[in-house]
Amino acid sequence: MANDRDRAEISGNEGFDKFKSMELPRLVVVGNDALERTGKTCIELKLEGNALIVCDPTTRKIAGDRIGELLEDIDISFEILEITEASQDAVDEVVETGNDRFEFLLGVGGGVPIDVAKYSSHLLGAPFVSVPTAASHDGIASGRASIDRNGNKVSVSAHTPIALIADTGIIANGPARLLASGCADIIANATAVKDWILAKKLRNEPYSHYAANLSEMTAYSLIENSDTIKPGLEESAWMVVKALVSSSVAMSIAGSSRPASGSEHKFSHSLDRLVEKPALHGEQCGVGTIIMMYLHGGDWKQIKSALQTVGAPTTARGLDQEEEDILEALVRAPEIRPERYTILGNKRMNRKAAESAARETGVI
Ligand SMILES: [Zn+2]
Repeated sequence: MANDRDRAEISGNEGFDKFKSMELPRLVVVGNDALERTGKTCIELKLEGNALIVCDPTTRKIAGDRIGELLEDIDISFEILEITEASQDAVDEVVETGNDRFEFLLGVGGGVPIDVAKYSSHLLGAPFVSVPTAASHDGIASGRASIDRNGNKVSVSAHTPIALIADTGIIANGPARLLASGCADIIANATAVKDWILAKKLRNEPYSHYAANLSEMTAYSLIENSDTIKPGLEESAWMVVKALVSSSVAMSIAGSSRPASGSEHKFSHSLDRLVEKPALHGEQCGVGTIIMMYLHGGDWKQIKSALQTVGAPTTARGLDQEEEDILEALVRAPEIRPERYTILGNKRMNRKAAESAARETGVI
């Protein structure tokens, strides 16, 4: 029951100074043959004029060329730009190509074309439509992009896509490894939320129950249904895409990546910096989640078993990395985004403790 003070505040709005602005996709089109609805989606969103389709050589064949035909059908002219890396140079190329010539952009692909189109459209001030051909990470519907600057991956703020068109047939037919990696990126929410709660308790960090619960629920609904994730099944692609969208919505509500990115992501980014050939983002985050759940004193065996069931790696060998690099990445992980407080604290991790966590969980 509200006390007198609460009542006064409610009636007079005294002391209420909260404000929030959330950017969410306007249309989420997901399911069987969703790609064929590209034209209809553009009409509904009143997207007109010239479109720039950003893809890579593979995703051009899978979906890019078909999108061009579908746009032609509704009298939208287009150009296709192929890029091969999510680098600042690729972004500069898209921005230069796009300057004043295109009313909107479509990013067609796994991570790379979507990251580049998302960030470029933000710089150009043009709407962006996300067309994932794989469900390998939660960037498909989020407002952040991962861009390589001088060999370092940085997470930059960009637009949330105005629409997401996720064709479950295309995604299900993609490499099984990508879908498993997407699952692992969702499972990572389990420790990201634990880190967030810790930061709220120890640092009085802003915290949203709503965003945290949504993110955690998304992770556990996948963990509990991990045995239904099978490569080649559209139903599985459907579940993973829905979970990735929920994850992005949780980030939009929080106004940051906090609900989906904690110590396990620091470990993954730390490994990216350290080794020449990192594994996939989601795969590394999944292994990080096992270790971080162990450090949190939570049920890391449940995490490990869910990752195994969806076919994601759970060991250094599974990531195709040297044990030594895994340990060094753990030791240095707190140096990534030090302002984001997690179970790792903000000093380098003790080497012996890192080794013991990795051994106890069977990662090394
Ligand atoms: Zn992630």
